[in-house]
Amino acid sequence: VAELFPPALSELIRALQALPGVGPKSAQRAAFHLLERDREGMNRLAGSLERAATDIRHCERCRMFAVDRLCTLCANPGRNERELVVVESPADVAAIEAATSFHGRYFVLMGRLSPLDGIGPGQLGGHVLEARLGGEVEEVIVATGATVEGEATAHWIGELARLHGVRASRIAHGVPVGGDLEYVDGNTLARAFAGRRGVDESGG
Ligand SMILES: [Zn+2]
Repeated sequence: VAELFPPALSELIRALQALPGVGPKSAQRAAFHLLERDREGMNRLAGSLERAATDIRHCERCRMFAVDRLCTLCANPGRNERELVVVESPADVAAIEAATSFHGRYFVLMGRLSPLDGIGPGQLGGHVLEARLGGEVEEVIVATGATVEGEATAHWIGELARLHGVRASRIAHGVPVGGDLEYVDGNTLARAFAGRRGVDESGG
């Protein structure tokens, strides 16, 4: 089939499919929209994509997105080192910061255990997390989602904590099953956070 569109447009449509959940059809629709209705937004998007790809990396302590060696939360000396919340994604950090008065530290797995997708402890920064557990941490609060993978991940972290003699607790589940933390409303999240229990007592 001969190319119907100029190469630059075909390339844009292909590139847009890097976005999650965007197939050829919606990529094409987005490309047409940007070109036809929003050239300014298109320039902004191009600039921020380039800046983000160049500047943003993972915090060395918690794996959160950061520009410097440490993210803003890790660089903040005012937060306590005794409590460490482990979450699946940066969105969870934002949700907990907004809904609770938690003032400790975070560790962001950037995913959850999923052997079928080839995601094991190595992909989730297991060794970085272990290094944290060797420090001043007294309690690990596991705030992974209430999915099967989230539960398996919580179990793994509980084991790691035990290995390092650190207490591990799990946030209570007023959280809908299969729901990711970031979609849970603030009140529910605050209650789940306050009602955390030892990983052992949770009964799976
Ligand atoms: Zn950090």
